[in-house]
Parts: sequence; structure tokens; C-alpha cells
Amino acid sequence: MRGSGRSGSSGVVYVLDASAIFVGIESAAYGVELVTTPGVVEEVLDPSSRGRLSTALRLGRVRVVDPGREWVSRAREAAKAVGEVHRLSRADLEVVALAMALARGRRVVVLTDDYGIQNVLKSLGLEFRPVKTRGIRRVVKRVVRCPRCGAVLRGDEEVCPVCGYRFSTS
Ligand SMILES: [Zn+2]
Repeated sequence: MRGSGRSGSSGVVYVLDASAIFVGIESAAYGVELVTTPGVVEEVLDPSSRGRLSTALRLGRVRVVDPGREWVSRAREAAKAVGEVHRLSRADLEVVALAMALARGRRVVVLTDDYGIQNVLKSLGLEFRPVKTRGIRRVVKRVVRCPRCGAVLRGDEEVCPVCGYRFSTS
């Protein structure tokens, strides 16, 4: 992991995804450690949100931690296993990857309203908390269909075997 600069704190760390980043920043108790990933920062595009995020970053309220390629590829494997890999963006996979990496030494809670991310986290036994929705109760094995021809796929194909549709792999 790059840029992590271990704080040595044993408190809970919250990993924020793009769907939860602002509610997370605004509602987290003082002293709770907040982290997100470079991909999430990039995914926040609208100017007012960007402004608020850069303020939070400048104040050190949120730290950006890159989970590194190894953890991202582990996260991608976990997403494939539950049929979520095509629903998750690069930023989403980074969030799962960062949670996997940090959870080895600490209590980690991912704040996310994204059901795909929740599903992968649950399959890994990692903790998450929705900020606006109720969240999922159990791991769901998604039925993945080709967006062009509707063929039912395994979920890890890069090209649809029926029509040749190419999934954009993040
Ligand atoms: Zn197809």
C-alpha cells in the first residue's frame, strides 16, 4: 500500500466510496479515521462536490490511500465470484481492495450505498454500513446478462460468447 502513513491508532477506520463520501465526511464522529481511494476522488466530478472534497482532503479529514494493484486484483476476483465484476467501477474495486488490505490489522467499516460493493464485502465477511439505504442482508449471486443480446453469462467474461459484445474492463 502506498501513502498509508500508518497512524498507529487502533480505532475503527471508515472507507468511503463515491456514493457515501459526503454523508460520510459530514456525519462521522470527530476522531474517526476516514480514508478513500484515488479512483473515488477521480470519480467525484461535479464542481461543488469536488470543492468540498478537496477541502476535506486539505484539512486532513480524509486520507487518500492507494490499495495497490495486488489488492485490486484480489478484489476483482472476489467480485467475479459473486457476479458483480461488470457492475463495479475501478473506483469501486479500489474501495473493496482497500477494505481487504486494511482489515488485516484493524476494524474496517466501508460506508457505501452501492449494492454491488456491499455484496462483495459481505461475501468476504467485511463490514459495511449504508448511509442512505437499508443495505443488503445476504450475499446475492447475480445473474449477469449481456447488455447487448441478453445472454446469461457466468459473470467474468470479457467478451460475450454469443454476440461478441466486449465488456469494458476497468
Ligand atoms: Zn451478447
